[in-house]
Amino acid sequence: MVATLNTILDKSIHITCAACNHTVVHEVANLLLVVDGDTTTHQVRSRATCPKCLAVGDNTYRVE
Ligand SMILES: [Zn+2]
Repeated sequence: MVATLNTILDKSIHITCAACNHTVVHEVANLLLVVDGDTTTHQVRSRATCPKCLAVGDNTYRVE
């Protein structure tokens, strides 16, 4: 599911690193402090850096 952040304000994006399986949860409300509301979940995913192994964009995500 690809959505713009404006439409999922009360949700979180769970990003799981494909390389090391580390999961990070970003609350959408907090993401909007640094990115635009027109940003898509796909763009967030592709820009996400794993804090554990530093892989960029190599991950899967879900919104809930
Ligand atoms: Zn990783």
